[in-house]
Parts: sequence; C-alpha cells; structure tokens
Amino acid sequence: MRTPIIAGNWKMNMNPEQTAEFVKAVKNDLPETTEVESVIAAPAVDLPALLENAKGSNLKVAAENCYFEDDGAFTGETSPKVLKEMGVDYVVIGHSERRGYFHETDEDINKKAHAIFKNGLLPIICCGESLETREANKAKDWVEGQVTAALKGLTGEQVSSLVIAYEPIWAIGTGKTASADQAEDICAVVRKTVAKLYDETVADKVRIQYGGSVKPANVKELMAKKNIDGGLVGGASLVPESYLQLVNFN
Ligand code: PGA
Repeated sequence: MRTPIIAGNWKMNMNPEQTAEFVKAVKNDLPETTEVESVIAAPAVDLPALLENAKGSNLKVAAENCYFEDDGAFTGETSPKVLKEMGVDYVVIGHSERRGYFHETDEDINKKAHAIFKNGLLPIICCGESLETREANKAKDWVEGQVTAALKGLTGEQVSSLVIAYEPIWAIGTGKTASADQAEDICAVVRKTVAKLYDETVADKVRIQYGGSVKPANVKELMAKKNIDGGLVGGASLVPESYLQLVNFN
C-alpha cells in the first residue's frame, strides 16, 4: 500500500555539470513512480540543473534543507516558497549533519516542517541516535523524542503524506550499516510513535526510510522489512549505475 521511496542525498558533492550528466545517465531507466519513487536531494546550487534535466522523467527532486520563513533578511538561507516555485517536490530536514554541524534544534525542524507544508512541498524528516545513545540503550526513546518534536502541530493528513528517515548517526558514511533487524527495530518504533500521536491509519500511511551506508548489496534485505519503505542514500547515490540499482531493487 505504501509506495517505496528511494532518495539519494548528494550532500555537498556535485556541481551543475555533474548533475546534468547524472540525470541524463539515469532518467530513462527509472521505475514508474507508482512502483518506486526515485528522488535526488541536491545542493541548492544544483537544483536548477537537476530540475531542468529531470523534466518529463520519473525523477523527483528534493532540496537538502530550507529555512522556515518564506522571505526576508535571512542571509544565506533558502526559501521554501522559492523551492516550490522552482518545481521542487521534497525537502530533507533535520539531517544529523545539519543538527550536528549547524546546530539545528528539534524546534527549528518542526518550524521547517510547517513551512514546507504551507508551501505545498513535502518534508523528509531525519532522525537517529548517536553511538553513545545506542550503547546507553536509549536509541528508542531518543528517536521517539525526535519524531514527536518534529511532528508537533502537524495534522494527521499532513503526517500521512510525509516521509521519516531513520538514520543512526554511527552508520552514516562509515560503511557500518545497521543490520536489517536493527533498522527494522527502530523503524517500527517510528511507526508506533506516529500511531501513538495520531492513529493507526496515519501510521499505516507514513513512509519510513532507513539511511546509513545503504548500497546495492544491502538494499533488498532492508526493503524486505515490514516497516522500511525506502532508503536515504548518501555515498552510493553519487554514481548513476549504483543509483539505478538502488531504485530498481525489486
Ligand atoms: P551514507 O549517507 O549512505 O553515505 O551513509 C546517508 C545519509 O547521510 O543520508
């Protein structure tokens, strides 16, 4: 019932020329959007090239971040209103790199989620624990807290349509994937949290991605899990061949 969603997260790794080449290499081999949603989250500077080249294809476009105001004196920020005008579909918010290096708080992430919906975009909301939190046996409480804070004030209808990405920080860019069981375990907690905050219908609809060293070799096993509806993929999304293997995991 939930359409799988595989999103590449390019981080700060591509320029507009590379973006155009990448899209040309993948655009004709993407699955139908009703089968699997193929998304690329790109740096703001690459979005025009991504949108232009993805036109008419099954590729959906995400920004890697945005601000929670539409316009004003916010030097260096990206407006969700302008992202919508450009034709962007999704915005990734709350990535652990943004929380860690750029000090984004749960409150900021919640404000961004509201701003994204106000502008007719959809958020991909990231959550996930550090190794320290996991070793202290607090991963479940931590993730439940992050999800609860991020969704504050959103309607059931909004939550039904958004995506939550569970990304344990210790598995990002480290080559250490959480085992499929570890990933499923926390993705189930995410869904239970949504059921507790809303109801079973909303929880059944929300799509949950796992992220952290997802690659062609492990995508199938992860996607077979009941509560994993997709992947948020960094390193392995940068190469067209590997991205195509990920979105065509079926
Ligand atoms: P990775 O990154 O796939 O390179 O581990 C995932 C992410 O940070 O979204």
